[in-house]
Amino acid sequence: MKAAVVAKNKTVEIKEKTLRPLKYGEALLKMECCGVCHTDLHVKNADFGDVSGVILGHEGIGVVTEIAEGVTSLKVGDRASVAWFFHGCGHCEYCNSGKETFCREVKNAGYTVDGGMAEECIVTADYAVKVPDGLDSAAASSITCAGVTTYKAIKVSGIKPGQWLAIYGLGGLGNLALQYAKNVFNAKVIAIDVNDKQLTLAKEMGADLTLNPKTDNVDEIIQKDLGGAHAAVVTAVAKSAFNSAVGSVRAAGRVVAVGLPVETMDLSIPRLVLDGIEVVGSLVGTREDLKEAFRFGAEGKVVPKVAMRPLEDINAIFEEMEQGKFTGRMVIDFKHKK
Ligand SMILES: [Zn+2]
Ligand SMILES: [Zn+2]
Repeated sequence: MKAAVVAKNKTVEIKEKTLRPLKYGEALLKMECCGVCHTDLHVKNADFGDVSGVILGHEGIGVVTEIAEGVTSLKVGDRASVAWFFHGCGHCEYCNSGKETFCREVKNAGYTVDGGMAEECIVTADYAVKVPDGLDSAAASSITCAGVTTYKAIKVSGIKPGQWLAIYGLGGLGNLALQYAKNVFNAKVIAIDVNDKQLTLAKEMGADLTLNPKTDNVDEIIQKDLGGAHAAVVTAVAKSAFNSAVGSVRAAGRVVAVGLPVETMDLSIPRLVLDGIEVVGSLVGTREDLKEAFRFGAEGKVVPKVAMRPLEDINAIFEEMEQGKFTGRMVIDFKHKK
């Protein structure tokens, strides 16, 4: 079977691979599609260390074609996910307290184990989340990473219906965050981005207020006009966005960090203490989070913007990604090969 394999020279090679036989508790997926994520770009560029030889992909959706002994959660014909949170140990304090994505023994698809950017993929059945009927595979692939990550972040923000949520960064992640915030959590959304095009799109998709830090004094406007946001979710990858988020929330507000700039943020200790501000990180989502995120997708409340591409385009997609040439998600199509 063909697979996108991380090569030594910061590129990805399309290689012929043969998978090992299934072990107890595993299932074989015939992949339908796999989204290409910014994280894949970091992985193939060896930004997180050299993982050459591994099959890329953590936004995969495939159909179960075979199950090994001990599998009860999936059956042949089901569709299931290959996610960044691929496998936890199942017995540590994180795994047993609803925080499994922080398991210290975690396996990540397309990074520490072979992922879903291939014609076939082996998964641990209990960790592959079933895709509900009515949710198309390409949309599901996007929800497997970007969707669940933003859905979880909004859950972590503790936002309640009618409250103001500031979303920093309205790219691929932020756009999904906006949809979950509006259509699932029924929050009032302030969309903040340096790109007016993204803000126009955000407005069309229901953002209640849009602000551009290039022309607007974001913190001041939010504090003055709204009394501060109840919470902020930062998907942007600029330190300035994180600092602005702390400035824009009201007392007892919570700032949720999702974007991953390799920087340090400035935190005023008096601001933190006197106003009881919380700053927390949120990492992808658990299997339960993904199930929920899928369900809202199947209900049509969240519609990811995707474009299907052949596997052969993978290096071109990374180039386009580095040049910021597209909005929405590029998804490798394994079902309709060219
Ligand atoms: Zn991803
Ligand atoms: Zn664990």
